[in-house]
Amino acid sequence: MAKTLLVSLLALVAPVRCSGCGRADSALCGRCMESLAAEQVRELAGFVIGGNSIPVVSAGIYAGARRQVILDFKNGGQRRLGRTLVIAVTRTLRSRPVQQNADILVVPVPASIRGGWNRGYSPSLLLAREIAQAIPNARASSIVVPRLRIKAVLRSRFATRSRATRLQRSPSDYVVRARPRAADVIVVDDVAVTGATVRAVCVALVSAGVHPSVVAVAADVPDR
Ligand SMILES: [Zn+2]
Repeated sequence: MAKTLLVSLLALVAPVRCSGCGRADSALCGRCMESLAAEQVRELAGFVIGGNSIPVVSAGIYAGARRQVILDFKNGGQRRLGRTLVIAVTRTLRSRPVQQNADILVVPVPASIRGGWNRGYSPSLLLAREIAQAIPNARASSIVVPRLRIKAVLRSRFATRSRATRLQRSPSDYVVRARPRAADVIVVDDVAVTGATVRAVCVALVSAGVHPSVVAVAADVPDR
């Protein structure tokens, strides 16, 4: 009891540290916010699916302040950091030529069942919402969900396979539960490591008759 009280009192007086640089400031200091928002958007190798090419844009390399901010956003419950992560990439998405008044659908890559359980929120859905809010006629919708397989759930809950194996996703791991008529579909993920997950989601969408026109990620891990 006394210890709990002390901990809560300390939390009140302890300075908040910036996720990006660690300086005592707000959850994200002005300097880090500006530099993240000003980062050059990276065009990655696109996906070729069913003969169509889908460009992939990244808000920046998964390193330094961006990496720290993403970690706090994904694992530290700092949901509000999402906006800054996608400011630059949203500008790029807005500047694409899209049919006037066309409906735009922003589709998040779904969190794994395990990740959803552990976290209680979906980082990529939050990013999709931030992007949709900043683009006229756009809305975010989780039309792709992980396929529920009892075996897979047990495996992920009591994982004995290596992390790398668990992270391998194939299009059959996903279900497209709605086929909305949108002229433009943007697929969004937080971090692209190999790009295999977001690609699998794109293939699932194309198979269901929904054709993504672009993929956007908040960060990418460049090939070494
Ligand atoms: Zn900072």
